[in-house]
Amino acid sequence: MPEIAFVNGAFMSLSEARVSVEDRGFQFGDGVYELLRVYAGAPFHLAEHLERLEQSARAIGIPLSYTRDRWTAVISEAILRSGFPEAKVYIQVTRGVAPRDHVPTGPVTPTVVVTVRAIAPPASELCANGADVVTVPDLRWARCNIKSIGLLANVLAKQQAQERGAFEALFVRDGYVLEGATSNVLIVKNRCLVTPPEGPLLLSGVTRKVVLGLAQEAGVAVKEQPVTEAELYAADEVFLTGTTIEALPVARVNGRPIGAGPPGPVTKLVMARFREARG
Ligand code: PLP
Repeated sequence: MPEIAFVNGAFMSLSEARVSVEDRGFQFGDGVYELLRVYAGAPFHLAEHLERLEQSARAIGIPLSYTRDRWTAVISEAILRSGFPEAKVYIQVTRGVAPRDHVPTGPVTPTVVVTVRAIAPPASELCANGADVVTVPDLRWARCNIKSIGLLANVLAKQQAQERGAFEALFVRDGYVLEGATSNVLIVKNRCLVTPPEGPLLLSGVTRKVVLGLAQEAGVAVKEQPVTEAELYAADEVFLTGTTIEALPVARVNGRPIGAGPPGPVTKLVMARFREARG
């Protein structure tokens, strides 16, 4: 089965896909992206991902000419062409191709790329035993709610996590835990689910929102409020959310075990509800 790409209106196999070296995404990281999950051939929460893509593009002044219907048609066709029932769809929109200058001198047409690749659910041992995470200083900019392709700080953080034998790095700024390099973070204290509030210092995760809704429906109290590093260590449960990892329990933070060991009861409940929701 082929890995598929869509580049500026044309479908092709991923190995044939090309963009110019003068693309501002390549030159400056001047672009935005989305990653969404396909379960049994159907995109999961597509509308929320498209809304966030539009918000990100608007925030950095990239004009998006694609309507929701056009995105939906392109994504559906790409999934069909790939034939992957379990897939991840990556969407990238850059400001476009122009001679390298920080401010483009003339009009630029945005570059639109969509790719589809197969994906497996997170490893069952990881879900059962929980992940190791480490904390790192947050060296990112102050617009982390924009899903920018400029991910250098995230890449370095994730690399650090790997070097320290961990699955994920959690960004800490001024003593507060914000999110992971590729995930949101939630803690459970006294059966209450707590997660840092949306704002410019973290990405408004689609999975985070889905999980908060599922938890509330199941009668779990939910609070969106700042979480200190001390509260993270003292939590009864900690878990991560993200498009590819769904809801993933955390076993240890910087080597320190969390609660009575993963997955705790609220994490288990959320994981079960999420499995039902994705079908
Ligand atoms: N935070 C960051 C920095 C991310 O990169 C991601 C996903 O890539 C998330 C959170 C989780 O977002 P979502 O649930 O929409 O995948």
